[in-house]
Amino acid sequence: MEPTPKESPEGLDLVRKEIDEVDRELLRLLARRFDAVRQVATTKRNEDAKAILDSARELDVQAHWVQDAESLGLSAPFARRILKEVLNHSRRIQEPLISGASEQVVHHLKVGYQGVPGCYSSLASAHLMATRTSATVDLGGYPTFPDVVDALQNREIDYAFLPVENSIGGSILDVNRLIVDQSLHVVDEEVWEVEHVLAARPGVKLEDLREVRSHPAALTQCETFLRGLENVERQAWFDTAGAAASLEAEDLRHVGALCSEEAAQHYGLVVLERGIADRERNETRFLLLSLEPEVPDQRLPCKTSLVFKLNHHEGALAKALAILADSGTNLTRIESRPQPDIPWEYLFFVDVEGHKDSPNLSAALRQLRSCCNHLRILGSYPFRTKKQEQHLDVPAPVALPPVQPSCRIESVPETPKAAPKRTTFKIGNVTLGEGTFVMMSGPCAVESREQILESAAMVKAAGATILRGGAFKPRTSPYAFQGLGLEGLRYLQEAGRTYGMPVTTEVMAIEDILAVAAHADILQVGARNMHNFSLLKELGRLDKPILLKRGMSATVKELLLAAEYILAGGNQQVILCERGIRTFETATRSTLDVSAVPVIKRSTNLPVIVDPSHAAGIRELVAPLALAAAAAGADGLIVEAHPHPEQALCDKEQALTGEDLKQLMADLRPIVAGQGRIWS
Ligand code: PEP
Ligand code: MN
Repeated sequence: MEPTPKESPEGLDLVRKEIDEVDRELLRLLARRFDAVRQVATTKRNEDAKAILDSARELDVQAHWVQDAESLGLSAPFARRILKEVLNHSRRIQEPLISGASEQVVHHLKVGYQGVPGCYSSLASAHLMATRTSATVDLGGYPTFPDVVDALQNREIDYAFLPVENSIGGSILDVNRLIVDQSLHVVDEEVWEVEHVLAARPGVKLEDLREVRSHPAALTQCETFLRGLENVERQAWFDTAGAAASLEAEDLRHVGALCSEEAAQHYGLVVLERGIADRERNETRFLLLSLEPEVPDQRLPCKTSLVFKLNHHEGALAKALAILADSGTNLTRIESRPQPDIPWEYLFFVDVEGHKDSPNLSAALRQLRSCCNHLRILGSYPFRTKKQEQHLDVPAPVALPPVQPSCRIESVPETPKAAPKRTTFKIGNVTLGEGTFVMMSGPCAVESREQILESAAMVKAAGATILRGGAFKPRTSPYAFQGLGLEGLRYLQEAGRTYGMPVTTEVMAIEDILAVAAHADILQVGARNMHNFSLLKELGRLDKPILLKRGMSATVKELLLAAEYILAGGNQQVILCERGIRTFETATRSTLDVSAVPVIKRSTNLPVIVDPSHAAGIRELVAPLALAAAAAGADGLIVEAHPHPEQALCDKEQALTGEDLKQLMADLRPIVAGQGRIWS
């Protein structure tokens, strides 16, 4: 057959040209948008007292953006991510224009950071300075934190840019101490998303590596991935980019470095693996420090950092905090640090929302000063750690758990009405909700490291994208296998990482929530716990998806109200799961209520999935129930599968084999395609 033009080499060139043209057009449009944003800033400049950030307008822009994106066939999460960057950049462009800072004639600034070019500090400082000032900026790396501060004190540099806390590692105490001991002022902050890659010299393969070097924090953050590499030693290095540089300098061919993608590129390395950190989100907060205070425009959303010492008597801290609370001030950070020279006396570091000169906060600070020994205002600066996604994805959480259904879920309607717009959310690289279909699969329980690794390989090969496996098992008999607990969580996480699949597992007790959340991407509430309201309330405070299973004798309305407990706490990422209910019928383990799927979909916008395994209880019945669920409009399935069902320690009668699962996926395809959904 003659190649059609687009398939021929010339055709490919044409398409690539078109892509290049579209890219240029995108850049031209962005430049046009930012020009308009600058004009808005000039107008706002003369507005007094009114806050500059127009949140209502932003929400409006966001709502239309997502709607327009969807109508063009673009994915909503992708569109949101792009808009988040655009809005963030727009805000930053406006700040200096509004406050007039850009008119101060500064042509050249020097900023010092700890590390070498390509390290996260250098990337984050470049990002912050690009929007903070129109001056040219020289960035310079120094070996240690005190070296950077010495350079500032000697006026070799205008600003020091240092990390102060990390979302995984916590507070960086040495930097907090330097700020106090050297009387530095905080003039800005930056938050940087740390994304480690494993890089090596060109031509080197993963199996050639005998050593991986990086900063100790990065090695710890990629623990699971590194453990999976056989015969590879870990070597602590002073800096992530420094590790990358050392590979280039010596042309080391048996050593890899954990560093940023940019550092890999900078030092002529190629990326062997991405997405290797134990946790998906790893953010570092940096402070821009100077010898002189700088006061931002009061109309910008600001944050203020304080440090104080308290007399050693009961209730001293509570009194200090009550002053802030009474003034309606929101605390964004509090931590204490012992004073090395005075054992058992502490300094408290507190960050609050607001500008130090605003009427509210300045009055509170005056009062606070009178009850503290030593209060220093480290500075007010633009607030950059606010979670944008909160505005983007969901309405603000309601303050107190309502007993009645809130706006998210309505009671089951008596008469049919239009289905609400569906929520979608991302779990790793899987999108769940409107327009997609997701297969979650794996064994009932994690039984051993080998078993869950083998299961993960099997279900992945069959086409599942989320791995299931219970570590804490709610067994009807106390003498049955209860799960491996924490050990099981670790194996499950490792298996998920190894095969690039987010993992879901059940949490049974409040005290296990943090451990489960640290290892799993979705926390499952089992049928037996659907009515455990204390557990649900705690899960409402978590920022992770919750898979809520319908109780064995719960009505749909009760399931929705259970979900409401989680939503009311602020966690909007709830997946509902129909898993069969107890009826007079005993031919199956439970009776799958297929009608629950369309019923639930009429009254809530949350994704609904179906577990045919626990409903059927019998291997041969799992597939027909799964097909029925898909046909009824379920957004996905959770199906038990085991590489050796006959040896399964739990629910072996209902476990599919790898082959069964493959066949089921093939049978589901026409149904899912017929609904216009895509597999995710
Ligand atoms: C499970 O999914 O492992 C489970 C125990 O299911 P259910 O809570 O629906 O019985
Ligand atoms: Mn089971």
